[in-house]
Amino acid sequence: MRNKIIAGNWKMNMDLTGSIELIEELSIELKYVQKCDVVFCPPFPLLLPVKEAMKNTRFELGAQNMFWEDKGAYTGEVSANMLLSVGCNYVILGHSERRKYFNETNETVNKRVQKALLAGLKPIVCIGETLEERESEQTRSVIENQLKYDLQGFCRDDVVNLILAYEPIWAIGTGKTATPDQAVEVHQFIRDLLSKLYDEELAQIVRIQYGGSVNNANARDLLGRSDIDGALVGGASLKAQQFAKIVEAGELNS
Ligand code: PEP
Repeated sequence: MRNKIIAGNWKMNMDLTGSIELIEELSIELKYVQKCDVVFCPPFPLLLPVKEAMKNTRFELGAQNMFWEDKGAYTGEVSANMLLSVGCNYVILGHSERRKYFNETNETVNKRVQKALLAGLKPIVCIGETLEERESEQTRSVIENQLKYDLQGFCRDDVVNLILAYEPIWAIGTGKTATPDQAVEVHQFIRDLLSKLYDEELAQIVRIQYGGSVNNANARDLLGRSDIDGALVGGASLKAQQFAKIVEAGELNS
């Protein structure tokens, strides 16, 4: 059985004081968690203080992006080794906000994923369709295209080390959640694709998170489904009580 993985994507929110308070509160609240993996992805300047605040917990640290080069004249970018040096073991790549606002493409996502895997980070690779694409019944072709390009050139041993996040763009930050059935349908489609591209055993190993307005009210229904291996949580990850309830649903179903 795949244990659940709940990741909080703080996006460009929080400051030093608020982030430490949130981690301290959740450290107490989630002390009982044993099976569900819990990952916090704060903005770059908060990675180290958050790492320090989570010592003596099972929490893990992730970044929201990284560049594929090792070092050099790339103002504003951070490398995989920099992330590793502050204690990250996960990195979100290909988030739809990065694709939309910062012109990331399947090609650049692929380069980032390649570098992250080489460095020993676990990428959380985001894929998902727009509302327009869903309404014109293109969901499957869009997902297939993204998955094929984002994972191009990767062997089975690479893919074992990554997490996929199915994030329908129409559900991100909108309060509109995919129903568990809608999410499961796409998760099964992704698993079938993995099986065709690699093999069935691998398809059963890779964890696929759902992301898009997950909150304390819908987490149990979503995470109660065996094909949904966790959640990538934006807005609700900024509120300790909400996030704690989502992790509780993850632990219950792990
Ligand atoms: C996200 O940022 O990946 C996300 C799913 O955001 P929200 O939970 O706010 O929809």
